[in-house]
Amino acid sequence: MSKVNILIVEDESIVAMDIERRLKTLGYSVLGHVMSGEDAVVRSEKDSPDLVLMDIHLKGKMDGIEAADKIRMLYDIPVIYITAYSDEATLERAKVTEPFGYILKPFQEREIHSAIEMAMYKHRAEQELREAKEAAVEGYKARSSFLANISHELRTPLNSILGMTDLAMETEQKEERNEYLRTVRESGSHLLNLINSILDFSKMEKGKLEIVEESFRLDELIESELKGVWNNENRDDLSLYIDIDERSTFSLTGDATRLRQVLRNLVQNAIKFTGEGYVYVKAYTEEVSGVGNKLLHVQVSDTGIGIPKEEEEEIFSMFYQLDNSYTKVHGGAGLGLAIVKNLVELMGGQIKMESEEDKGSSFYVTIPVKEDRNDTRAPLTIPESTRVHIISADEFLSDIIRRRLEVWGAEVKTQHSQKILGTTDDIWCVGGNIAFGKQVVGKLNEKGVSEERIIRLAAKTENKFNYMQSVQILSDPQKRLKLYEVLSNAAKHKNGKIQEIELTMPRGYDQTSEEEEEKTEEDRSVGEKRQEEKHFSQKERDLVGRIMETFISTAKEQLQKEDFIQFEEHALEIKKELETYGFYELRDILFRAVLAARKYDSEKVKNLLDNLKERSSSLRLKK
Ligand code: ADP
Repeated sequence: MSKVNILIVEDESIVAMDIERRLKTLGYSVLGHVMSGEDAVVRSEKDSPDLVLMDIHLKGKMDGIEAADKIRMLYDIPVIYITAYSDEATLERAKVTEPFGYILKPFQEREIHSAIEMAMYKHRAEQELREAKEAAVEGYKARSSFLANISHELRTPLNSILGMTDLAMETEQKEERNEYLRTVRESGSHLLNLINSILDFSKMEKGKLEIVEESFRLDELIESELKGVWNNENRDDLSLYIDIDERSTFSLTGDATRLRQVLRNLVQNAIKFTGEGYVYVKAYTEEVSGVGNKLLHVQVSDTGIGIPKEEEEEIFSMFYQLDNSYTKVHGGAGLGLAIVKNLVELMGGQIKMESEEDKGSSFYVTIPVKEDRNDTRAPLTIPESTRVHIISADEFLSDIIRRRLEVWGAEVKTQHSQKILGTTDDIWCVGGNIAFGKQVVGKLNEKGVSEERIIRLAAKTENKFNYMQSVQILSDPQKRLKLYEVLSNAAKHKNGKIQEIELTMPRGYDQTSEEEEEKTEEDRSVGEKRQEEKHFSQKERDLVGRIMETFISTAKEQLQKEDFIQFEEHALEIKKELETYGFYELRDILFRAVLAARKYDSEKVKNLLDNLKERSSSLRLKK
């Protein structure tokens, strides 16, 4: 135990020196002695002793009782009175100052020792009690403000669901009704998220949340989760960059669901609290000792409003929200980061944060994971002679793609201007806005580069690039396997002819993973519902059957012309219709057809359309 530092207040030097000697013999440390009440107050402030031994009768204006009262009130330092004799009135005055003990002169060392130890113990106990009380009051305040907050948060989407349902029931217009239903769906999914957070929080409080181990692919997990979040956002003022180091171990085991939750929360916050700029997600694995052990690093950075230094610790507390206009606009319950921290720690990891006000914030998560040795997929590679040019003003994006392609084995050149500085044998990735893209593609065409060797780096909203039929589209946020796929396609089309180069997806990279990847968060949340056998009215079946038959005949014409882009666009519209009516099975088959079309697999698309046709006809026949 650390030494107790004591200040002696005694106006008789000899007595003071005697006390000092005895205290030292007992192992205490003496800060010094003063002779007046005034000096006692000054030294208490200056040296913060752990304890003051105070003579009651002091010469001068301020006696010991008055000085002790001040010291207790101002500095919360325990005081023990030393006194030879005191009349009743003085003792009564002394009592009011709540002393930590009396030692009567002349005294024994034993008495001093026990008085000091008792005083120190009492003082510590009082302090702990006070802190516990303060924490309880804080906790109570936090809980009542949480309840007030949460009821508001629950009521808002519920009111929106009720209001929009009424409107949807009243209108005859299909478009308008779909619009209302979309809002109902959004509010429903918001509500679901909120309820999930509350449930997680309550499980955490009871220590009931368990971590499970499952296999996952690092790129699929990050890209699908972020795509889900990003698809639900409508932010033209923000870019989302995903930068997964290609040298990472991609087949891992760990709690994929909880990892997704951590990532989702951090990225949703980054988007929420960033007015304009970008959100950057970086991930890589690091070797650590022990067979198959890895450390997964995930960084989520933004260029948003930042977090003040003094609040950096607080934001991980339950119910904590910064008081700013963003919080007011976006709502939230202040649970996200507390849950994230808990989850990360449950997985044995750590979370850190760096932030600068008005510049942005970065959250760094490290989580121990294991390499999945059952996954034998080969690393992605491309022939060394593949030369790729990236033309984009977006240096960030160019750099992410360049680093990835270089690990695969390509020779990469990045440039910001439209000047064409390569050959027709090269592959061209063209970024920028649509006008820029059109110009560059035009120039490349003039130079004799075939459209198949051009990859358009498109914004999320830019899904129609059909003025260039054969240009391949890589939509924002770019996905690793998709990049590999478009690159493979581009590499096959050399000199206007399809080349027989071995550059197909290595074995093991199956379609299902990509389908899973394409699902939005909402799709996943209705997953279970989809399994249910729904009972549709004959009217609904007839209607959907008719829609499908018309679609299928147009789709077949589009396929004949190999117009995959038009097909996809049309199919996605129908997919939405099927979703709205609740025909999930048909929707899934249609979606598989879209994925096959993206791979130009006409045979597969045709088979899936035949399957759809059969099901649609049987819909109309069913009575
Ligand atoms: P919620 O977002 O639901 O309010 P969180 O626990 O996720 O709750 O976040 C707590 C608070 O921390 C937020 O209200 C916000 O004030 C602040 N915060 C979190 N992430 C960021 C960020 N990326 N940039 C700025 N502020 C943030």
